[in-house]
Order: sequence, then C-alpha cells, then structure tokens
Amino acid sequence: MAFKSAYLQGVYETVEKRNPNEPEFLQAVREVLESFEPVIEKKPEIIETGVIDRIVEPERFIQFRVSWVDDNGKVQVNRGFRVQFNSAIGPYKGGLRFHPTVNASVIKFLGFEQIFKNSLTGLPMGGGKGGSDFDPKGKSDGEIMRFCQSFMTELSKHIGADTDVPAGDIGVGAREIGFMFGQYKRLRNEFVGVLTGKGLTYGGSLVRTEATGYGLLYFTNEMIKCMKNETFEGKTVVISGSGNVAIYATQKAQQLGAKVVALSDSSGYIYDKNGIQLDVVKQIKEVERARISEYAKRVPGSEYHEGCRGIWSIKCDIALPCATQNELNGEEAQMLVDNGVMAVAEGANMPSTPEAVEVFLKNGIMFGPAKAANAGGVATSGLEMAQNSARYSWTAEEVDAKLHNIMINIFHSAYNASEEFGQKGNLVMGANVAGFMKVADAMKWQGVAY
Ligand code: GLU
Repeated sequence: MAFKSAYLQGVYETVEKRNPNEPEFLQAVREVLESFEPVIEKKPEIIETGVIDRIVEPERFIQFRVSWVDDNGKVQVNRGFRVQFNSAIGPYKGGLRFHPTVNASVIKFLGFEQIFKNSLTGLPMGGGKGGSDFDPKGKSDGEIMRFCQSFMTELSKHIGADTDVPAGDIGVGAREIGFMFGQYKRLRNEFVGVLTGKGLTYGGSLVRTEATGYGLLYFTNEMIKCMKNETFEGKTVVISGSGNVAIYATQKAQQLGAKVVALSDSSGYIYDKNGIQLDVVKQIKEVERARISEYAKRVPGSEYHEGCRGIWSIKCDIALPCATQNELNGEEAQMLVDNGVMAVAEGANMPSTPEAVEVFLKNGIMFGPAKAANAGGVATSGLEMAQNSARYSWTAEEVDAKLHNIMINIFHSAYNASEEFGQKGNLVMGANVAGFMKVADAMKWQGVAY
C-alpha cells in the first residue's frame, strides 16, 4: 500500500532500495513511517530537517566473525552483529540476541524499534541492538563461556559505558552477561557499567530480571483502566513464550488476580485450565533449561499441544505475546477477536504481523505495541546505568516504584500523542510519534553531521 504523503513514500522507497532482502527491517520501518502521516500533515516543517531521512539509516553497523572451540575440540564459526542506530538522546542501548534466526535484518529491525522505545522511557538512551546466529540450545556451560568471551573480544572494541551499553535479549540472560562482563573487564582493566542485566554481586540492579514482564503488566493495567475502566481481577490471560518476559509477566498477572492458562515455546504450548503453576515453569525453564512440554508431564490436568501457534485459539480476555517477532498473524488475531479478547499487549518485539495489528485496531481491541508495552526491561537497564554511575544501589521497592511510574507515563505519552494527532486510542501511532518527537528535536539541534 502506498503512503498518502509523497515524501514518506520516497523515504520508504530509498530504505527498500538500500536494504533489499531485509523483510523484518522493512516491516518495522514501514509501520513507523505510516505513523508519521499525521505528523507530516500537522507539522510539514519537519521534512526540511531531514530527520526522517536520517533516522532510518543506522549511524553504524558492525558485523564480525566469532570463532570458538566446542567441547569436542572442533572450531566453530558464528557471525556477530552490533547496530548503533541512533545516539541523539544518549549512548546506544539495547540487548544482544543469540538465536539461529539472527541476521542483519533482524538486528536492524530490533535496533530501529529500540530508538523509539528507549525515548519513550524518558531516560537518556539511544538505540542499538546486537547478537549472533549462535544457538545456545544444548550447549554446555563451557561452550557458552568460550563463545561469549570470543564474541566480547571483538565487541569490546566498539562499546563503552558512555558509548554503547548492551544487555540481554532472547538467548542472553544472567549467565551470558556474566561471561561477557568478565571478558570486557579482563581486556580493558575497567570495572564499569558497560553491560546491564548484570548479577547482583557485581553491579546489577534489583528487579532488572523481572522488569520486562512486570512492566508489561503495569502498562497493560493502566491501558485497560484508562481506556475501559477494567482490571486484571478474574481475567483469563494467555501468554506466549516461557522465557524471562513470559515468566515474570505470568507472576505479575497472577499477583493482579488474573488466571494465566497457557504458555509456550518454539515446539508447542501448554494449557492448564486451573491456572499455570509458576514454580513448576521456573524449575523447568530457569533451573533445568528444558522444554515446556515437561510441564504437562508434571502437572495433572494440564495439556501439551505440538505447534506453538495453536496457543491463539484459546479463549481469553487478555493476550500477551511474549515469544518472538511475527508469532501472531492476521488469522490468529481474528481468532482471538472472535473468542472475545478485550486487550492485547506485546511483551516480545514486533510479535504481531501488520495484518494482526490491523485486525485488533479495526475491531476496537485495546492494543499495546511492543515499543511501549515492553519498555520496562530497557527502562530498568537505564536505572541500572544510573546506579552504576552513582556507585550506589536502590532497594527493590525503589526500583519497582520507578519502573511502575515509567510504565504509567509511557501509556499516557502514547495515548496523548494518539489524541493530539487525531487517532485517539491508536497506541501504535501514539507510541511511535511520542518516541520520535524527542529524538527528532535532539537530532535537529545537533545539526546534520554527527
Ligand atoms: N532486549 C530488551 C529490549 O528489547 C532490553 C534491552 C536493554 O535492557 O538494553 O528492550
């Protein structure tokens, strides 16, 4: 579909030409540019600043070889990436993803989204992202350590506490961050806050582990309260995924009085009509690093179904996709709507396809897009950076209160922008525009060359 604005159409065509064969990146850029239609109409002077032409091109893109030796003494080679997308409002900030599907397109879509998400938090963080096509599944701790060390040997040349501060994402948790932090310190002889998501004994922040999931629930709770005067009390919730985001989203949903009935991994999903027992999930996923199918073997009355996409056929009031990009398509969105879903909020990055988003918006479903709804993780990373700079740490209550406040503010920024630009309640547009405005202003004042 063509853009209404010839200018935006031109920007998109340039991006398309420069980045052929990068479907995820183009998908993310198209969605954001579509949100700018009302901005161009209301503030056409933005065109002259060239801010939109500039924001779609990464400031820097680094690709490197990561070679390491496996437990059998065999040399393995993976590809590493870091995109430093935008530093207008702060050092580049964003996670590292280790997953076989990682490529330039995936890293660029994630880095692009991170610009707007980080801006929405209100904290001074630019946008970046990185990772590798390395698959941590089935690897020993020794293999993970050697891979992380090799990865950091190159990455360390490009990052720094005031330059670029990576963190975790899919496949990168406390274990991987620890190995990478150790290697950075070894290479540079500097104990600095160059990574977030660190362990609590060496500069990590309380509540960082829980932050993305908790933040998703704080955001969604505010959204359903303000838009439809609703609460989580007694609601049936379906959450996809079973990683860090899904686990702590489940925990907070249960604390708010909801019943979470399903979780998934890339092989299939579990359905427990009595409500998911989170201690069992945590044992399986966090301690044993095993598959979610184990749950059905251990909890009587629960079921396991092959194929993760079937999770969207379960009837629920609120759906929280927390697995990965494009995990929920138009047909599946329609199934959720037909089954009476009231709200959908994204814990993963870009989990809903453009067709799915259209189905939700057209049917008046309250929809919290990833950039707003899952910003609690990076927001708490920002709080970790602040604590590291001050050489001080806050209590769990202090961090949690700040996170809560940030998520409430994000909802209102997105909602207010949706109203200001004439599409009240469209939080996709509202989040993109609210995140963009601050970055655009900073880019304008900093001049064209950087
Ligand atoms: N990977 C997370 C995200 O998608 C967190 C990034 C961070 O903490 O820097 O926002």
